[in-house]
Parts: sequence; C-alpha cells; structure tokens
Amino acid sequence: MNDPVLVINCGSSSIKYALVSADPDQPRLAGLVERLGSSDARLAGIDSRGERFQRTLAGAGHVQALEAILDSLEGHRPVAVGHRVVHGGERFTRAARIDDEVVAAIEATAALAPLHNPANLEGVAATRQLFPELPQVAVFDTAFHQSLPPRAYRYALPEALYRDHGIRRYGFHGTSHACVSARADTLAGRRGGWLTAHLGNGCSTAAVWEGRSLDTSMGLTPLEGLVMGTRSGDVDPGLHAHLVRQLDWSLEEIDRVLNRESGLLGLSGLTNDMRELEAAADEGHAGARLAIEVFCYRIAKSLAALSCALPRLDGIVFTGGIGENSPRVRERVVGHLPHFGLGLDGPVNAETVRGREGRIDTRTPDCPALWVIPTDEEGRIADETRQLLGETAR
Ligand code: ADP
Repeated sequence: MNDPVLVINCGSSSIKYALVSADPDQPRLAGLVERLGSSDARLAGIDSRGERFQRTLAGAGHVQALEAILDSLEGHRPVAVGHRVVHGGERFTRAARIDDEVVAAIEATAALAPLHNPANLEGVAATRQLFPELPQVAVFDTAFHQSLPPRAYRYALPEALYRDHGIRRYGFHGTSHACVSARADTLAGRRGGWLTAHLGNGCSTAAVWEGRSLDTSMGLTPLEGLVMGTRSGDVDPGLHAHLVRQLDWSLEEIDRVLNRESGLLGLSGLTNDMRELEAAADEGHAGARLAIEVFCYRIAKSLAALSCALPRLDGIVFTGGIGENSPRVRERVVGHLPHFGLGLDGPVNAETVRGREGRIDTRTPDCPALWVIPTDEEGRIADETRQLLGETAR
C-alpha cells in the first residue's frame, strides 16, 4: 500500500477509521469500534478482500481500541494520522499539524462543541500516546466555511456576543462540501458556483464559488438549518422561551428534544431512517409522507436562499446517504425549484444510486446541472493530511 494515512473519527464511545492509500485504486481497510468502555465493545471492519470481520474488545478504551485497529491493518503501517475534528472555531481556516499548542487551541473551542471536541481530543491523545513518532494532523469540519463573509456568518445579535463569546455561524460538514464541490469543478471542467446538499443523518447545504464556501445552512451548532434525521433544524428562536414558560421545560429537555427527538423522527413519529420512511409512505403512512414532504421542501428553500450567495449557479450537487441513494428526494427537491430552470432526467435519476456518480439533468444548454457525487470525507481528510505534511516537509 502506497504511503497510507490512517484517518480517525473519534466519538465519545466510538472510533471510525480508514486506512487510505495515496493510490485511489488501492482497497481501503476501514471499520468502526463501538460501545467503547463497555463489556460489549467491538470492532467491525472490512479487510483488503472486501470481507467483513468482527472482534469483541470487552472493556476496551480508546488506546486499546486503537491497538486493535492497528492489529487489523494486515501489516500496513500508516505514515501519518489524520483526525476529523468537529470545531476549529475562527482559529483554524485549514488543517493543522497537531502539537501541544494545537491541542490547547482545540480544547479552547470545546465550549462551542461540548459533545464533539473533547471526544475528538481523546482520539488525538490516544494516537499520540501509541504512535509518538507519527505526524498527526487535525482536519476541521468548520474550516472550509471560514471563507464566509460577515454578512453570512454574523447573527443579528449584540456585537459583544460575537466579540467576547464567538457567537456566530460556523457551519459544519466542511470536508464533505469541499470534497464534492471540488469534484464538481473537475467534472465541469471549470471552477464555478455550486449549491451542495449533504443529506445524511445530519444534513446541510452550502454555496461554493470557485472552491470557497460563501454560505452554509448550519450555524453556531450543527442544529441550524435543514430538517435532519433527529434534529429539528431551524425553529423560531422564540420557541425556547415559549417551552420554558408554557411547558416548564428544562434546558436539557429542550436540547434533547431538538437534537434527538425531532427531524424526520419527530415529524413521522416512526423513524429517522429515510429508507423506512419511503417504504412507510408507499403504504400510506401519513406521518412518513409529511416528514418527507417537509424534509424536501426545506432543502429546496435552503438551496434557493443560498443561491443569493453565488455570482453564477452552475449546478446543484447531491451527496450523503440520502442524497446519493434517494431519487425520490432529489426529484421532490428539484420540483420545488421550477424558477431555476432545472430539468431532471427521470430514468437517469432513478438509476444513479448506491455510490454511483452521475449527471442527472437533461443537459439543456444554459440550465444549471444536477449532479450526484458520492462524498469521500476520509479520502479528503487523507489528502489534506498529505498536503499539509508535504508543505511542512519542504
Ligand atoms: P451519516 O450522516 O450518519 O453518515 P449517511 O450519510 O450514511 O449518514 O446517511 C444515512 C441516511 O441515508 C439514512 O436516513 C438512510 O435511510 C439514508 N439512505 C441510505 N440508503 C438509502 C436508500 N437506498 N434510499 C433512501 N435513503 C437511504
């Protein structure tokens, strides 16, 4: 394997990993350790023959899990580790080589991502302990959106909240928006203006002009914007006070309901899984139908709003588990944007699923294109890691 980079995405009780070769044709060894710290901890992965394997790791913490991951790499040794870090605040406008100072800066932004940054740092600490000789790089979900102009990132709140407390829009899923918009530029043969829709369990849109993010739907936290699997997306900011005053809800209850019990799950009363919702809608389930309808309308509304950020619209890119696999969602979103002059090719849309890249519009001259581009966040993190280390080695 060609100079592989180990990409780590560390949560509080899970570690996702991928060993990514510089040669895109090499198979990727990848997997997930779940339920860290419990008697049920296990590693599930895919080997170089594409076969699935599982190992139990009872009681394993982050260090033991990483040892097991290293063991499963069939003798390949990474040349560097790239860590996905959720929040880089305003400090990190691109990837950064990890040292004590960078760790302290990530710690300092923990107030902005209290669930994610500390977990990401546990992964950093464990990998530094295990492989002290390997260069490590942090790749931030927020960094790609640091190019937003103030009119897009400022909330209409008192200035002191921004100045003293960093309250502004940051945006997330930057690695994915960067990955698919760069690919769209390549496919189009020129750098242009793209609206990208990352639709997975978390969902966000972005407006990207010549490789720079100019606006995005997520904000201070990943709760703003679109309807997601279990997250509400945009609600009236007055809702919080209303729930406290009228229903006597605590902050924890509000947080839990908006983050875990809302979105597709809350609307349908059934599930956060789009596959199940589509099947239920076909059987006439009213909640499932409504959930899909609100989900698609809000995506279209967000894309229309973000189009204001672009000097020219070259096309819309769908990605993420839903964006890559649901022709129905794509068709509905496009149907809500008749004034964009989009033409969807129905049969091509229907067959562009399961990881296929494809242009799904009717290719009418002067009309924006519609693309399905599978995202590759691990590949992008590995590329950014390599690029940064290449620069610092010079
Ligand atoms: P995450 O954000 O956790 O990485 P994914 O990008 O894998 O999530 O997206 C998960 C979503 O993709 C789920 O709602 C799932 O139902 C949806 N999805 C996956 N395959 C299909 C499909 N064939 N049709 C519709 N939705 C799908």
